[in-house]
Amino acid sequence: MTILPHPDLSSLRDAVRGDVQLPGDPGFDQAHRPWNLAIPQSVLAVVEAADAADVAALVRFAAAHGLPVAAQPSGHGATGRADGAVLLRTSRLDGIEVDPLARTARIGAGVRSGDLQRAVAPHGLTALPGSSPVVTVTGAALGGGLSWFGRAFGWMADSILSAEIVAADGTPRHVSATSDPELFWALRGGGGDLVIVTSLELRLHPAPALFGGRQLWPATAARQVALVFRAVTEQAPPELTLWLELLSFPGNQPLIAIDSTFLGEESAARRLLEATDSLPAPLSDTRAVLGVDELGSITAEPVDPGPGTSRAELLTRLDDEALAALLETPIAPLMTAQIRHLGAAFAQPSDSPHGPLDEPYGLYLFGVPSSEEAAEEIGHRQAELADSLPVSGRTPLTLLAPSQDLSAALPDASVQRLRRLKHERDPRRTVRGNVGIMG
Ligand SMILES: Cc1cc2nc3c(=O)[nH]c(=O)nc-3n(C[C@H](O)[C@H](O)[C@H](O)COP(=O)(O)OP(=O)(O)OC[C@H]3O[C@@H](n4cnc5c(N)ncnc54)[C@H](O)[C@@H]3O)c2cc1C
Repeated sequence: MTILPHPDLSSLRDAVRGDVQLPGDPGFDQAHRPWNLAIPQSVLAVVEAADAADVAALVRFAAAHGLPVAAQPSGHGATGRADGAVLLRTSRLDGIEVDPLARTARIGAGVRSGDLQRAVAPHGLTALPGSSPVVTVTGAALGGGLSWFGRAFGWMADSILSAEIVAADGTPRHVSATSDPELFWALRGGGGDLVIVTSLELRLHPAPALFGGRQLWPATAARQVALVFRAVTEQAPPELTLWLELLSFPGNQPLIAIDSTFLGEESAARRLLEATDSLPAPLSDTRAVLGVDELGSITAEPVDPGPGTSRAELLTRLDDEALAALLETPIAPLMTAQIRHLGAAFAQPSDSPHGPLDEPYGLYLFGVPSSEEAAEEIGHRQAELADSLPVSGRTPLTLLAPSQDLSAALPDASVQRLRRLKHERDPRRTVRGNVGIMG
């Protein structure tokens, strides 16, 4: 589809100091694509803001011209809602200031999870990283955010202490629990559809030692491995997190893995994971003492853009029937089927749009669509698996599929409260998140 320059965009280059790419510019094709290449995206322009003041200038310009602005640092969570908007890239908002004594960090909105982990690791501290080091902390935390360490410290969003934002009319503001309790509540898991965040102040957590890695077996051992996974998770302290991964790479034998992290000493981790020693010898075992900046190596997810189709669910239990359904047939054409152990701090009271996460396990089904037919087959297999498992019907906001809306992630009272805020703070719908508050 050819996108013609919007008549009002000719003056965009005068309005902001950052890089502006318009349709027809040599860099536009590359610049406008999201990380998830399975999502086509027709945007009006791409602006790489120079700094926070430049973000404010962009939002003022957009508000004055009746244009939506979509912050999309990476496009890991692209849903297609950036269509028709000016796309804001935040990679130049990359400052990180760590206060090791106060255990806090102030980060620019473009900071990626792996960059923050590298900055805090020398201080024996950690933020709350998920599986990928290349998603932004801001994008994940605004959606609640599931971290390796969420069982110990809760939602990523629970660690937000304050934010610098640009309101929908272009006014920069500081938001905290005392300065604007309602917006502060919304920022802790309500998504990115209300304001543009330019920086976050985050609580950091102690991580004096970390042990973790992947144990990998052929799928012929799947039942034994899954039973041990369940037994270990049932006894696990909050510092221990296990994910079960069914893996299927075309042309290779199907595999099963237990990925683990333990915030503590190796000896204690090995004791807690002792049951895995009774399993057949693994094909490989990467478990080792790790730095908190090495977590991305555990699942080794691709860092470069590529197409992906995912479906996420939350499981109410992992009983024998559920395990049998999960393992009954090979997962192909899916590439991975992941079960994350949740619970512990996730289930504690949380004054956030989501509230406590009661389900003890999360399910993430991922495939790489090489064609439209392949995408359909992946979707069919995802539905088949989800239908056969005890799903609660909810999906964490950061993992919503493009076809899902906010009500799939948040309680109805939170959706209504966010709608009132959207109406009040962004009546002209200038800010466009990947998950729309109004639907
Ligand atoms: C390989 C992979 C691994 C993942 N692992 C995890 C995981 O372990 N845990 C987890 O919870 N999620 C995970 N996710 C989901 C991921 O956290 C979400 O897709 C998240 O939105 C990514 O943030 P991003 O900023 O990098 O993505 P983007 O797609 O660039 O942004 C997503 C949305 O965040 C909002 N946003 C971002 N920046 C701003 C800003 N400055 N102001 C206002 N709104 C903003 C916008 O609504 C935007 O559309 C994973 C996704 C992938 C593809």
